Amino acid sequence: MKTKLRRLPLLLTVVSSALVVACAPAESPLTLYEFDCGVIRFESITMFGVGDDETDVRDMIVPCYVVEHPAGSLLWEGGLPLAIAEAGDWVESPPVLLRQDQTLADQLPSIGHAIDAFDYVAFSHMHFDHVGASSEVQGATLLIQQAEFDAAFADSVTVPFFDPAVYEGLRNAPRELLDGEHDVFGDGRVRIIPAPGHTPGHQVLFVDLAEEGPVVLAGDLYHFRESRSDTRVPEINVDSALTIMTMGRIEQMVIDEGAQLWIEHDMAAYLERQSRSNVHR
Ligand SMILES: [Zn+2]
Repeated sequence: MKTKLRRLPLLLTVVSSALVVACAPAESPLTLYEFDCGVIRFESITMFGVGDDETDVRDMIVPCYVVEHPAGSLLWEGGLPLAIAEAGDWVESPPVLLRQDQTLADQLPSIGHAIDAFDYVAFSHMHFDHVGASSEVQGATLLIQQAEFDAAFADSVTVPFFDPAVYEGLRNAPRELLDGEHDVFGDGRVRIIPAPGHTPGHQVLFVDLAEEGPVVLAGDLYHFRESRSDTRVPEINVDSALTIMTMGRIEQMVIDEGAQLWIEHDMAAYLERQSRSNVHR
């Protein structure tokens, strides 16, 4: 990133003014792609603080997102562990069932991308259902909050649903350890926002799309619509008070930015968007 930024001003001094205009941020494309990286099926959802009689929803989508920016590409979220796709069917992982029909690596050629060609990779957090492609994103710089990294690579990992075997490939990956907000491409359009509580260094992604408008990919800040409308904190959560503070701060940001908030695991919202397109500009 630093190399690219340093190169840009030099370039601009020698190219025509027409090209300078063409490179202006307002006109340069920013694209968000959305992929199906698995499904989690629950029998009961009470562990999320949502009663089984409050909603019929039992399936969660596990999405992966690709952001393409003129200065580089970012993978946000890594889906279910690769072993699930390899199984080719529902896999029992009590108390849930897991399924993934196609790996992210197999889906990426549809947008002309390769799994080992990302400039950056970031996950909302290191739960096993968000980091499945970890071992395949060779060469990408990992953007992770220091607190999440410390918890994920501690000598003895104590955060529930962190599975070091799934994300071991990231241990020695190039990385930028973050302590707060991070502007990924330097123009404010793709920003990682700290959102701790669900895990020590949970984070969300702000993407300022030209047509769709600003979107916050909210990680596991919420799992269900009821979680958001009624501030429900799941049992699987390291700090409830911090989570509630974070929810308030992110909701204020959503208001200030006039943004949409996408609950990443919201299957119905995902399918509704997919029915239009998996490409958002
Ligand atoms: Zn989670």
